[in-house]
Amino acid sequence: MDTSKNNNKKAAEDKDLLLPKKPFRTHGGVHVDHMKNTAEVASEEIPTPKKVIISMQQHIGAACEPIVKKGDKVTVGQLIADSTSFMCAPIHSGVSGEVTNIGTIIMPNGAEIKTIEIETDGKQTVCPDIEPPVVTNADELYAAVRKSGLVGLGGAGFPVSIKLNFSPDKQVDTLVINGAECEPYLTADYREMMEYPEDIIEGTRFVMETLGLKRAIIGIEGNKPFAIRRLDEIIKERSLGDRMCVLKLGTSYPHGAEKVLIKACTNRAVPVGKIPADAGCVVLNITSVSFIAKYVRTGMPLVSKRITVDGSAISQPKNVIAPIGTMIADIAEFCGGFKQEPKKVLMGGPMMGTALYTLDYPIIKQNNGLIFMGQKEADDVKPSDCIRCGRCVAACPMLLTPVNIQHLVEKRDVQGLNDLCVMSCMECGCCGFSCPARRPLVQYLRMGKSIVKSGR
Ligand code: SF4
Ligand code: SF4
Repeated sequence: MDTSKNNNKKAAEDKDLLLPKKPFRTHGGVHVDHMKNTAEVASEEIPTPKKVIISMQQHIGAACEPIVKKGDKVTVGQLIADSTSFMCAPIHSGVSGEVTNIGTIIMPNGAEIKTIEIETDGKQTVCPDIEPPVVTNADELYAAVRKSGLVGLGGAGFPVSIKLNFSPDKQVDTLVINGAECEPYLTADYREMMEYPEDIIEGTRFVMETLGLKRAIIGIEGNKPFAIRRLDEIIKERSLGDRMCVLKLGTSYPHGAEKVLIKACTNRAVPVGKIPADAGCVVLNITSVSFIAKYVRTGMPLVSKRITVDGSAISQPKNVIAPIGTMIADIAEFCGGFKQEPKKVLMGGPMMGTALYTLDYPIIKQNNGLIFMGQKEADDVKPSDCIRCGRCVAACPMLLTPVNIQHLVEKRDVQGLNDLCVMSCMECGCCGFSCPARRPLVQYLRMGKSIVKSGR
């Protein structure tokens, strides 16, 4: 046996698993105004609304089916909808009251989805079945996280249990915690860092040790120095510094995108068409990992959400904690109503958020922001012809060529779009943001992906 070769391999592996002192270089990205107006404002809990409308599509994957019916009484934390699909997370009530209707709602993407409407009784009676789960191994962690209804709380809405259910042959060794929160305005994750830092470290430790991972890296943008310092202190207090660290990231957008974050934290690249486990990583949002610590302690499933409410049209920007299904109009009223008519309303941040056509719409698990833009912020700028400056190419973190992709979309060239890897686009918006001609590049990219998916 060639022992020197084996020793070299082992040394290389050990080096790969060191905790990084500074972030690794990433490609592309843009500098956006942070506008974190609500960062230092403590979260406020909304009084129990009179009614909630709970959408059956709260996550990426299959919609749930209601398991309650009109007239049923429900309690806080009670399971009200589920699915047998693998790609799914069950839904629980965040209020106590009576089911008044099983209806439907048109989602922002045009899909018609079932809803459960609940008239609340104001008592917030907790479901008697709530009890902390027993979790001693990876299988039990997967089952508990699925049962909790947790979806990625950073905005992506991917059922978290699926991320934990990687195959052993993937050789996953690193837990990456996403505390970048790089979208302008949004501070919901930051408030979690300031209000529940112990839960973040406990959740990180618990997931890392239960999955048998070797290290955990918590990536946080450098514009959150207080949070970085506090989490660092707790890691030291708990003597976890040999396998866990907080990594101060640069402040360019999109450091919170999964593949960009993995590169910045580990210097590993996720191959095209593959998942983080193929780069030896599991990535969890920082509020998600904090929720896991709370869930393991209390057994209360995911029934409420912290949302950053901001934008020049709202009177009192703040972070609001509200039961899932609270109507957006109720949240706006809790924030003092509007000081000017909102011209554009976004669910999520301005880079990746979804525009809403009505306030008569409920919040869902994956919402982390509601941005009510006034006239100035929402001003539409007309696109002009491409000047082939190449800035969109330089800005793309995925090394794509948006300038060329837009022409292939116009020709509906499926083969060409595949050749230019359009499916790798994560719709981060850096290309459109950097375009001096204000071309609607993200819309082109989205169209390109749907052309490839449909094959025409
Ligand atoms: S940034 Fe805009 S103008 Fe420049 S090449 Fe790309 S699409 Fe054309
Ligand atoms: S939206 Fe897609 S093409 Fe545009 S910069 Fe982001 S990843 Fe690249």
